[in-house]
Amino acid sequence: MTASFVLDDVSLPDGTSGQSILIENTVIAAIGMASDMPADVPRHHAQGALLSPGFTDAHIHLDKAMILGSCPICEGTLAEAVRLTAAAKRAFTEDDVYARGAAVLEMAVRAGTQRMRSFVEVDPRAGLRSFKALKRLKTDWADLVELQLCVFIQEGLTQDMDTLPLVEEALASGGDLIGGCPYTDADPVAHVGLVFDLAETYGVDVDFHADFDLDPEGSILPEIIAQTVKRGWQGRVVIGHATKFAGFTPERRADLAQQMAEAGIGLVVLPATDSFLNGDKGHPLRPRGLAPALDIAGHGTSVALATNNVQNPFTPFGDASLLRMGNYYANIDQLASDADMQTVFGMITDSPARMIRLDAPAPAVGAPADFVLIDAPSYAGAIRSAARVTGVVRGGVLRLWEPRAPLIRGQ
Ligand SMILES: [Zn+2]
Repeated sequence: MTASFVLDDVSLPDGTSGQSILIENTVIAAIGMASDMPADVPRHHAQGALLSPGFTDAHIHLDKAMILGSCPICEGTLAEAVRLTAAAKRAFTEDDVYARGAAVLEMAVRAGTQRMRSFVEVDPRAGLRSFKALKRLKTDWADLVELQLCVFIQEGLTQDMDTLPLVEEALASGGDLIGGCPYTDADPVAHVGLVFDLAETYGVDVDFHADFDLDPEGSILPEIIAQTVKRGWQGRVVIGHATKFAGFTPERRADLAQQMAEAGIGLVVLPATDSFLNGDKGHPLRPRGLAPALDIAGHGTSVALATNNVQNPFTPFGDASLLRMGNYYANIDQLASDADMQTVFGMITDSPARMIRLDAPAPAVGAPADFVLIDAPSYAGAIRSAARVTGVVRGGVLRLWEPRAPLIRGQ
């Protein structure tokens, strides 16, 4: 049983300020006036911070994060990133993957993330070393973050069928779902079919990296949509990147977005990676190169924003902060209104949690005491300022407490 405590001077998303929250036995027991709270429990002053659900990162690669030291980037292209990382992962050890993954998990938890889907590459280069490390991380960090493991075929399957038994072993020993990457396969259509075969055999959800360039031709989305419907996998398929959406005509964009919505396929936009790897780096206009998430969501498609890579050849930046990612996306998609900022906030909270099928109840009386406090006047304001997380509560325990420190003025 966890101890009870009260957080005073919390602001609520409806604009109410000066509220106190009583946490008792892993649930939010009461929200109200400070004078109505029990006097005999520890109290913490939240400095007016805003109550928010914890964030859900629907797409991250813990296994290949933080490897720039062994991967000097020259070109900054997708082909180079795949090549450098494929070479580096031969040298990964289970302990090395564990240590780098733990470093990213700590960053993510401090930034308010409470649920996460991590891809983990399983193939003859990585063996099952990365997978074993992430299984340990899933257990060891369960007090702070709910971690879902997506067994990921990054480097193609039909030309590298030795990958298949390793993937099956991972799915049979704790992998939560299967991830495919048709654009690195010699036969992208066959790749999609094989991944769905595995999904059916093991009864798991599917997550594809797909359409990762700006050429409007050659989309694999129609094949993924068709297989999703044919296999009855509606609501169980997610696509990451899909940056070809940026190159489609408005009519084709609307058509495919609506087909994805009807098939219950979610889209995860990965702003840091997509804007780093796409487009001609030598062109003065530097196209932003990411799928227009807000526009696609307007067609009824479920859309999330996620971290993807942290400081590796795919993305030589990163701190696993979803508020920063929301802010970065809103900036480069040139959004302006409060309503749009509010939608972006949903892309790091409710939308990804639904998409990867993890429970994330809004913080309210009777709900689990899993939430964060942020230094912002509203959810829209939190996106505009990439606000700081000042408190993390999970499992009824105050896990992080960093309220705004006083500023010393004068001489
Ligand atoms: Zn990815």
